[in-house]
Amino acid sequence: MTEASYRTLEVPAIRRERLSDRGHDRWSPDLLRGHLKLALRPLTPLHVGGPVPVPAQELGFKGITGLVRPFYRQGRRLVVPGSSLKGALRSLVEMFTYSCPVTDESKRCRGPAYCLACRVFGALGWQGQWFFSDGLIRRAEGQKVLRRRILRLPPQRLGHARANEDIRRYYPHRPFAMAEEDEYLVEALGPERVVVHTEVHFYNLRPEELGAVLIALGQGKPPLCLKLGGGKNAGLGTMQVHVTASTIWQGAEQVDKPLTDYVAQAQHSEVIDQGALTQLQADLGCPSSETGER
Ligand SMILES: [Zn+2]
Repeated sequence: MTEASYRTLEVPAIRRERLSDRGHDRWSPDLLRGHLKLALRPLTPLHVGGPVPVPAQELGFKGITGLVRPFYRQGRRLVVPGSSLKGALRSLVEMFTYSCPVTDESKRCRGPAYCLACRVFGALGWQGQWFFSDGLIRRAEGQKVLRRRILRLPPQRLGHARANEDIRRYYPHRPFAMAEEDEYLVEALGPERVVVHTEVHFYNLRPEELGAVLIALGQGKPPLCLKLGGGKNAGLGTMQVHVTASTIWQGAEQVDKPLTDYVAQAQHSEVIDQGALTQLQADLGCPSSETGER
């Protein structure tokens, strides 16, 4: 029933290189390091699942019976784990940078040469250079109630890439019609009245590598929106990213230039698969009514 629910991209020839110019313990004066503060606004409901389903009444929902997969929590606080944010960003970067599909055992990098996604986000034997804090969920400005509800979702059976396939699968922001016979219940947030705040740190990146990640963070034109959490096949988890602050250093100098300069550097380099990016901008571009600053 889900055969038409995803779109595909061919896995291109993967471009790998050795990490001769950098390491975590290395001072690399030509490379960039810094941090970004991000505000992610859901444009569709968001569900980042906790470990096990619980009865609806345990979450405070009245009049609903049955098991519900709760939103992820740390203690009593709703949180988007940094690993979820990193995973969503990585899967997008992989698709337009000649990178390996990390979910495909047969194709992923094993060193000593690594693709761009592995250089930036990590691989076997390499920690990566981009680190996410957990996302804290807050009420959007001026709005009193954090909207929390239960949604019925169809199961999501297909991952990003399966072993020995030469295609990647992804879900567009547009939801597909689903049969209802085996839906399940999840606790979801928003999209109204919700914003996720997080910070990311990066080390020893080349300008075009930073630019590629910024494209996935919606800083290109037209902007991409991330797909975060569960229910992607039902249109959940479309997130528009706003960079609310940035600090970037190169060697001993703080660099003060707009983030769009790094995007342009990536666009004019060899790291971007333009055909793939154009397809993704059509399928995963932020819905046009939402692309303005809010
Ligand atoms: Zn790789």
